[in-house]
Amino acid sequence: MEYRAVFRCIAGCHGDHAVMQPIYRCPTCGDLLEVVHDLDALRHRSAPAWMQLFDQRYKRTVWPYGSAVWGKKEWVCPELADDNIVSMDEGGTNLLWAERFGREIGVDDLWIKLCGNSHTGSFKDLGMTVLVSVVRQMMRSGRTLQAVACASTGDTSAALAAYAAAAAIPALVILPRGKVSEAQLLQPLANGATVLALDTDFDGCMAIVQRLAEEERIYLANSMNSLRLEGQKTVAVEIVQQFDWEVPDVLVIPGGNLGNVSALGAGLDLMEALGLTRKRPKIVVAQAAKANPLYLAYQQDWRFEPVHAEPTQASAIQIGNPVSIKKAIRTLQRYDGVVEQASETELADAAARADLTGMFNCPHTGVALAALVKLRDRGQIAKTDRVVVISTANGLKFTDFKRAYHARTLADVEPAHARRAIDLPNDYAAVCDAVDRAASQTSLHPVS
Ligand SMILES: *Cc1c(COP(=O)(O)O)cnc(C)c1O
Repeated sequence: MEYRAVFRCIAGCHGDHAVMQPIYRCPTCGDLLEVVHDLDALRHRSAPAWMQLFDQRYKRTVWPYGSAVWGKKEWVCPELADDNIVSMDEGGTNLLWAERFGREIGVDDLWIKLCGNSHTGSFKDLGMTVLVSVVRQMMRSGRTLQAVACASTGDTSAALAAYAAAAAIPALVILPRGKVSEAQLLQPLANGATVLALDTDFDGCMAIVQRLAEEERIYLANSMNSLRLEGQKTVAVEIVQQFDWEVPDVLVIPGGNLGNVSALGAGLDLMEALGLTRKRPKIVVAQAAKANPLYLAYQQDWRFEPVHAEPTQASAIQIGNPVSIKKAIRTLQRYDGVVEQASETELADAAARADLTGMFNCPHTGVALAALVKLRDRGQIAKTDRVVVISTANGLKFTDFKRAYHARTLADVEPAHARRAIDLPNDYAAVCDAVDRAASQTSLHPVS
C-alpha cells in the first residue's frame, strides 16, 4: 500500500505541499500548515490490524520500528526512507498509576505519562526525531541547508541539538538568556550546537528565528513546523495503546506554544477516523498564571489576544503569543476542552506534594497537577474518572527549581512542603538521636 501525507493550510486554502519541502506557512494566506494523511489508503488496513501491528512493534528491536514514534511510521511520515530516520528510541515511556497521590486528591484512577523519561528528558524528542529525519532525507536528495535552527524555552533546543548531532547536521539554537535551566543550557552546548543566548524572552527569540527562516537561511525546527506535531501526536496513540486500546476520560497537559495539545488532538482524531476509538476524552490545558493567554481566551469564548508573558518557574511555557493557538482552540472545541491556570505557589506546591508520593516533577508537570486539583475540587473531574496527566519533562532537568523551593528562595512562593537535609557531625550518638526524632514524627512510621 502507498501511504501519503502532505502539508495543507489549516484555514482551508486550496493546494497540497510536499512534506519534503521547507515550507511552514500557507503561501496564500500565511496561516499555519498541518500534515494531512491519505485516510483512504490508511483505511485499507482495519482498525484491529493497526492495533495488532503497533502492538507487535512496540519496544521491540526491528529498527526503526521499536521506537514508539516509528512503530507508527505509516501514521507519522510515510514518505521517509528507513535509512534516513534519525532515531534515539523515542516514546515507550512509562504510564504509571499514581495511586497514593490520586487517593490524596480524590482521583482513584490517576495516571502519569512520563514523557520526560526519554533521550533528552522531554516530550520534544517525539517530534524532533521526525523533523531531523526529514532534514536528512532532504539533504541526501540534494537540497542544501545551512543549518537547522530553533528558538527555544530549553527543551526544544536540547532535542534539536541531540538529533542533529547524531546525524552530523549543523544546529543553531536561540535561547532567551538566563531564562532556561542550567541543564537545558548545557545540553545543546554538549551536543555541539551553536548556542545564541539573546537578551530577550522566548517570543523575541521566536521572532528572530522566523525571520531567518523566511530569508531561507535556516530550516526551522520550531513546532510551527508541523512535522514536529506528527511525532508528538503519537503520545495520544501510545496512551490509548498502553490501556489496551481504551480511551481514558480526561487528559491534562501543560501548554505554552500549544503545539503539544494540538498534536494530542491530532492523534485522537486519527484514531477515531480509522475506527480504533469511538469515545473522546476531555482535554484540560494547564497554563501558568504568569503566561496565560489561552486561559484568558477560554474565559472570553475563545477570543484570543497575545499577552506579555511574565517570568514563571514553568519556564518552558513562558509564552505570551503561542504559535499554535488556532490549532489548540480547534482541538479544545472538539474535546470538551477546559483551560485552568496555576499561580507560582500552586504549581510549586503541587509538584512538591506529588514528589512526596514518589514522583520528581518538573514545574510544568506541577502546573498540570495544580490544575487537576482545582478541577477535582470544583467537581469538574469525578472521583472515578480515569485521568492521565501528561508530564512533559524530567524533573532532573529542573534541579535549580527544586533547590530554590526547598531552600525557600523561590520568587513569589511560600513553600508548604520545603524539606532539608539534617546536617550532623560524624558521631554515632547524634545519628541515633536524629533517627529517633525522625521516627517520632512521621517518615519512619510503618505503612498500613
Ligand atoms: C515545550 C514544553 C511544554 C509546552 O509545549 P507546547 O507545545 O509549547 O505547548 C511544556 N512542558 C515542557 C517541559 C516543554 O518542554
